[in-house]
Formats: sequence, structure tokens, C-alpha cells
Amino acid sequence: MKKVRTSCKGRRCKFPRCKHILSIYNHEAYCHVHLSLVDVADRQKISKA
Ligand SMILES: [Zn+2]
Repeated sequence: MKKVRTSCKGRRCKFPRCKHILSIYNHEAYCHVHLSLVDVADRQKISKA
């Protein structure tokens, strides 16, 4: 058996209730949809503080 250096296969987006399966080449915790949403939310938090 060979070990391939990629992210775990079949990881799911961390976003609650999101069932998107992340590509092994996507090393982010979120799918492309939620990655932008989380990014925006983080910015809003920062600007609010
Ligand atoms: Zn997602």
C-alpha cells in the first residue's frame, strides 16, 4: 500500500449542515461556497469589534 500525500479523502465542509465533500486537493476546512461566507463573517466580526 502506498501513502499519498494529500488531504484526507472524503472530508466534509466544516460548515454546519453542509454536506459538500472536499476535494483531496482542497486543503481548506470549507467548501468553496462556505469559504467565502466564513471569510466575510470573519471580516464583519473584526470591523464590529
Ligand atoms: Zn460548505
